Amino acid sequence: GAVLGIVGGGQLGRMSAVAAAQLGFRAHILTDEAEGPAAQVAHAVTVGAYDDPDVLRRFASSVDVVTFEFENISADGLELLAGLCPVRPSGRILRISQDRIAEKRFLAGAGIPLAPWAEIHTPQDLDTAIATLGLPFILKTTRLGYDGKGQHRVHAPDEALPGFHALAPHPLVAEAMIDFACEVSVMVARGLDGTAVTFDVTENRHRNGILDISLAPARVSADIAEQARDIAMRVATALDLVGLLGVEMFVDRDGRVLVNEIAPRPHNSGHWTMDACPVDQFAMHVRAVTGLPLPPAVRHSDAVMKNLVGPDDMALWPAILATPGLLPHHYGKEEARPGRKMGHVNVLFPHGGLPGEFGVNAALAPCLRNS
Ligand code: ATP
Ligand code: MG
Ligand code: MG
Repeated sequence: GAVLGIVGGGQLGRMSAVAAAQLGFRAHILTDEAEGPAAQVAHAVTVGAYDDPDVLRRFASSVDVVTFEFENISADGLELLAGLCPVRPSGRILRISQDRIAEKRFLAGAGIPLAPWAEIHTPQDLDTAIATLGLPFILKTTRLGYDGKGQHRVHAPDEALPGFHALAPHPLVAEAMIDFACEVSVMVARGLDGTAVTFDVTENRHRNGILDISLAPARVSADIAEQARDIAMRVATALDLVGLLGVEMFVDRDGRVLVNEIAPRPHNSGHWTMDACPVDQFAMHVRAVTGLPLPPAVRHSDAVMKNLVGPDDMALWPAILATPGLLPHHYGKEEARPGRKMGHVNVLFPHGGLPGEFGVNAALAPCLRNS
């Protein structure tokens, strides 16, 4: 059978590999971690550095198409891969999403609404940002930031320079702090023939900078949901995407939808689709990058997803397993370090739909710490 090469050995690779197997593909993982989440479930594994030309050549020679769950491969590494086999999404898309400045320039150029932002190359740019964006704003690294790492909030003018020096490498991005009503995301998949589908809008809540809970469908007006889906479609088309893309957005207090960032891969906020959709985001991803048809991204149940982060959440695992109605997903990581995503739990609400806050908390009770 055909072999799907997946660059990256984490949980997104694991769940993509399982989806690939279900569709009749063999998953071959390129990872720097021999026993990691994806390697455990893969047909074959190449272990090595993501930018080692010999490793990349060996990997590419044994697969039919390459996709990613890990975005931070070098431009040279990408070019090498692209010379040996189809890379989907394309290296160009990866390069844009690796770099916050490139991403914001691209999105702004495509007419996508963004939070006001400025490029910060020098300390002088901070004064310009204070003048044009106002305070507070957030300084963000342009590369390698995740789970809110690589960010510094600036509330007063004298906090800007320390933030600049605390974050490296430069340049940085300054982003106006949005007093958002809620955060939402949309997973969009687009096939080789340009057919695109969007999953229902997801509502996201963070805890300590890490995604904590996602609810689907987002409890927003039909107009806001339509704006969010339309934006995701426009981003996918503008990028000429082949694959799956998560688009993170803010809904501001005036009902405007602004893009925060994009990720050209399955997204944590789309994990609810695994149990609430006949074709989930991982299956859609595999179908898109292997040239299979994309079925409608329909949802049969309302759903809530709770991330299990670090040792404290994992202490609840036995109770979660013992609770009917909780649908657990384990990532196979040995060590539950603080802040590490270890798994997630989905809960479905098929009939009455999402309950209010109290009902959601009641359903998630076995997954919630007392703190
Ligand atoms: P991820 O793990 O999603 O890649 P990241 O480190 O790239 O995270 P962002 O998504 O940019 O970081 O920001 C993390 C969170 O911080 C956002 O989901 C949001 O809750 C908050 N945040 C980021 N930018 C802003 C902003 N401009 N205004 C208000 N809140 C923000
Ligand atoms: Mg990010
Ligand atoms: Mg984010």
